[in-house]
Amino acid sequence: MRSKVILVVVDGLGWQAGQDCMGYMQAMCEAGQASLHQLRCELPSLSRPLYECILTGTPPVDSGVVHNDVVRLSSQSSIFSLAQAAGLRTAAAAYHWVSELYNRSPYDAVRDRLTEDDTLPIQHGLFYHQDHYPDDHLYIDGELLRRRHDPDFLLIHPMGVDDAGHRFGGDSMHYRNAARANDKLLSHYLPHWLELDYQVLVTSDHGMNADHSHGGVLPEERLVPLYLLGSRFNHDSTTRVKQTQLCGLIATLLGLTHTKADNPALLQNKG
Ligand SMILES: [Zn+2]
Repeated sequence: MRSKVILVVVDGLGWQAGQDCMGYMQAMCEAGQASLHQLRCELPSLSRPLYECILTGTPPVDSGVVHNDVVRLSSQSSIFSLAQAAGLRTAAAAYHWVSELYNRSPYDAVRDRLTEDDTLPIQHGLFYHQDHYPDDHLYIDGELLRRRHDPDFLLIHPMGVDDAGHRFGGDSMHYRNAARANDKLLSHYLPHWLELDYQVLVTSDHGMNADHSHGGVLPEERLVPLYLLGSRFNHDSTTRVKQTQLCGLIATLLGLTHTKADNPALLQNKG
């Protein structure tokens, strides 16, 4: 079975804010149209290593992407390369490190910011390179890619929560309000995406500590939410999920043949 998938990675969104500040997402759970799972992110709890983990299923110690300054292409098969090999369309509105991992490295803003190239794993890309790039613009970028190119797999990756955490700390009104702003943005787009029968995953790479940073093993750095929405999921919130299973889960939803770790217990008709 083949579905279209949207993955929203809200950068730096820890479990507590993801659970407490997202009233629309929680309303979808209460209505039986979504489930919320707690993920314990792989280590170190840093962005680039965990983009690689989410998008390839490989933890940092195995991928070699163990800090943010590893500027090179991924050596793993990714959701983008698997989809492209199967003839599917891919798109991403994301931070430029995603372009560096899967398209071209290092990032050249003039060449790569707006990417249209069917030979690259991310065929349609709208990348940004300032951490304060506004989340509402980023969601518009993602929705524009969706409408214009009808991708089978679309990554939407806003940075506003992480940016607020670095400036004001994980236990700040600014951080929590950035999470609330993402909930509102999701409530703007998600109903239409679900009407069109997209399967939607909303999660994060890592959380944020009170010292305005992340990287270690504190619960506020390591625990992140995973919301699952769409007709292929059974919305059983008791199912445990690992961050390393997201790539395989998405590959299965896309109908791809793959050898990635997966989690069939999350799906309807798991047989
Ligand atoms: Zn960060």
